[in-house]
Amino acid sequence: MPTAPLAGPLFDHWRAAPENGTVSVAHNPATGEPLAAFRNATPEEVASAVEKATMAFRTWGRTTPAERATLLLTLADRLEAAREDFARAETLNVGKPLGLAREEIAYDADVLRFMAGAARIAHAGAAGEYLDGNTSMTRREPLGVVGLITPWNYPLMEAMWKLAPALAAGNTVVLKPSELTPLSTLLFAQLAREVLPDGVLNLVLGDGATGAALVEHPAVRMVSLTGDVSTGRKVAVAASATLKRVHLELGGKAPALVFADAPLEAVAGELAATGYLNAGQDCTAPCRVIVEDAAYDSFTDAYCKAVAGLRCGDPEDELSHFGPVISQRQLERVEGFVERARSAGACVLVGGNRIDRPGWFHEATVITEVRQDDEIVQREVFGPVVTIQRAGSDDEMLAMANGVDYGLAASVWTTDVSRSLRFTRELAFGTVWLNQHLVLANEMPFGGFGQSGYGKELSAHAIDEYSQVKHVMLKATG
Ligand code: NAD
Repeated sequence: MPTAPLAGPLFDHWRAAPENGTVSVAHNPATGEPLAAFRNATPEEVASAVEKATMAFRTWGRTTPAERATLLLTLADRLEAAREDFARAETLNVGKPLGLAREEIAYDADVLRFMAGAARIAHAGAAGEYLDGNTSMTRREPLGVVGLITPWNYPLMEAMWKLAPALAAGNTVVLKPSELTPLSTLLFAQLAREVLPDGVLNLVLGDGATGAALVEHPAVRMVSLTGDVSTGRKVAVAASATLKRVHLELGGKAPALVFADAPLEAVAGELAATGYLNAGQDCTAPCRVIVEDAAYDSFTDAYCKAVAGLRCGDPEDELSHFGPVISQRQLERVEGFVERARSAGACVLVGGNRIDRPGWFHEATVITEVRQDDEIVQREVFGPVVTIQRAGSDDEMLAMANGVDYGLAASVWTTDVSRSLRFTRELAFGTVWLNQHLVLANEMPFGGFGQSGYGKELSAHAIDEYSQVKHVMLKATG
């Protein structure tokens, strides 16, 4: 375990030998070794963090957009300067290849920079006289204290997606990272202590119970969660008691629709590279490939060759395409999905097994001969497992793509413009890519339809998400 970046007051909490209360343990998934145990914050500790955020909001909520933007830009510069430490922390605790982790940190700095700019662009209707003798205007105001709860697959990126717009809009925050991967968020909170005023960013470490305490707290005006659909439901129910605003980024089961007129070999290569990125633990990963009948055999052949060429290995090794899954539990979950698919009559064309080595590695796996209502097609595996289905017509293709509860992302691979227009319109997903998959622009919104949740991350829409509109009406006297 490296010690260099893990110094400073916040790490006293991280390192403190837990004496009482419940404990979480963060691991290195590439070895299965524990990194550190820490005590889950109690409801009282959550309340104390909310109290600090409430106090800080009195001042922070009145800063100008330019003042907030300046601090967000400083955070971005500091994050970029410490990119290697952050990338290594992410590799150590999440098991993602170092190259990918480095790319993510650079991207995270850009999220901060974009939100610094977006903070300075007001979104409001024009002031004017809509009733005779009265002038109306709208104000966009922060909500107050917001609770941010993040998952384990992109720990720092998810934190930045939420933190940057929340702070840009003038809120103060209490942030709870996943109990499995708190390391990079801890590092960030430490860095932010030197930049942000006291109490603006508050970190609480803990598991679902700690998250639940944050959701239940009446002074928290909004909760933004990225996590599982089942967690989203619990959060929505709990938040209803205090009628706080809820933003949910939940699971996905992204289809990639491949037509015979697409350059099949190139498409196979791109879908293989993106389907197994981050060991498939990506809610937008193309994990359901649906291929037009005429192209099925040649595409499947090219895809399996591309997948067999992917290297699953040590995340510190620059040649690894993907590393381990996050935990023993997740490994067993992935194995369970593959086993049940086999028993239901599916064909495992590539991989299908855990890898016999320390840590939690699973082979890149391709499964065919599946039916639309099979569990492996309907439910999110969140591991290196992709299914391929065959479709006889455009209508069948569309029905298969839309025939799941999730609605986060989809892609269409074709050179036919009319078909592209029809599919981008009729696919019920929050992001639809044409001839690519997985690429995001910070200027554009990201969020799900259906069971994938509601609310938008990124873009100016995210600032709207973390703020509220007030109508002010002035009557001329005399
Ligand atoms: P999870 O739902 O188990 O946990 C997510 C976070 O919620 C963690 O911090 C956890 O401690 C907390 N939590 C758990 N129970 C809670 C409760 N009752 N109240 C409040 N907080 C609670 O999800 P995970 O396993 O960490 O992440 C994987 C899931 O996240 C996958 O389903 C994946 O699809 C989804 N995900 C979605 C997106 C997206 O943008 N849509 C991005 C990444 C991951």
